Amino acid sequence: MKFSTPLIPSSNTQKQTECLVCPRRCGTERYNGKFGYCNTSDDFEIASICIHKGEEPAISGTSGICNIFFKGCNMSCIFCQNSQISRNCKSYHSDFYTLERIIHEVCNHLDMGCKAVGFVTPSHMIPQMLQIIMALKEKGRNPVFVYNTNAYDEVDVLKQLEGIIDVYLPDLKYSDNNLAKELSHTPDYVDVAQKALKEMFRQKGTPLHIDESGQAVSGLIIRHLVLPGYTDNSKQVMRFIAEELSPRVHVSLMSQYHPMSAISDHPDLNRYLFPAEYNEIISEMELLGMETGWVQSLESSNTFLPDFNLNDPFENEVINLMLST
Ligand code: SF4
Repeated sequence: MKFSTPLIPSSNTQKQTECLVCPRRCGTERYNGKFGYCNTSDDFEIASICIHKGEEPAISGTSGICNIFFKGCNMSCIFCQNSQISRNCKSYHSDFYTLERIIHEVCNHLDMGCKAVGFVTPSHMIPQMLQIIMALKEKGRNPVFVYNTNAYDEVDVLKQLEGIIDVYLPDLKYSDNNLAKELSHTPDYVDVAQKALKEMFRQKGTPLHIDESGQAVSGLIIRHLVLPGYTDNSKQVMRFIAEELSPRVHVSLMSQYHPMSAISDHPDLNRYLFPAEYNEIISEMELLGMETGWVQSLESSNTFLPDFNLNDPFENEVINLMLST
């Protein structure tokens, strides 16, 4: 695929064949068949297009969200819950997607009542994402577009998404760069993600606009997955949101951490969350005056792990356990 609208940070002084789409800024000649850190080409590298009903009620709505799961990632979290399609994406078999096929499948889901299209892990696939959005609009389709990101995003790129993305759904993972380096091989994560969150907040502010069915049509929801053994990190993440953005931003606190076999010898990440440590974060949120959003039930760790070898990766998901605060 050739990008008709290469989305390159405005500060870019290198040739346009060199990829600077995300803050990793590899400069890899991705548009000439090379692979950068994210391990993906310039094709539509998609692992799955499916309906997901188990997310925040305002994201899933009553009919679920049509999620487009991209392969690869611009981070390398050792505990990745989607490792089948992120770090191992070259060994993971999936069908080849053309733009026509993507639009056909998405339109089928929209025809079945889905109101939103979510782009999952899109930071390294922005040009492809924009082509999908443009093609849907050309067909007269105007779903709610949700940008479901790890927050390792370029501010210059986010500025170019203003007016295109309806709902930002970033996962703010860390408040400590050393931890981000140790667990995700991303030593500048905190600086980059905090700037990205400030840009999303500038665009959307605190209001979450909801339609008559309870589905979000515009706004910002910040997710945070609590990791076992790292409560200080989580508390500092909440402090950043409350003090640098606003305590009224919608936050989705997630307890669904599931220990993956690849890290079975890790001293902290080899177990599920303890109730006491999860409650510590909830108490911190209360202290900070954060009362808008959702707190996931602690029983969620066994219910949310997708299996991308299935036609429906969420076939085994039990129930929606998101509880509104
Ligand atoms: S999108 Fe991929 S190739 Fe491009 S800068 Fe980021 S990690 Fe590197």
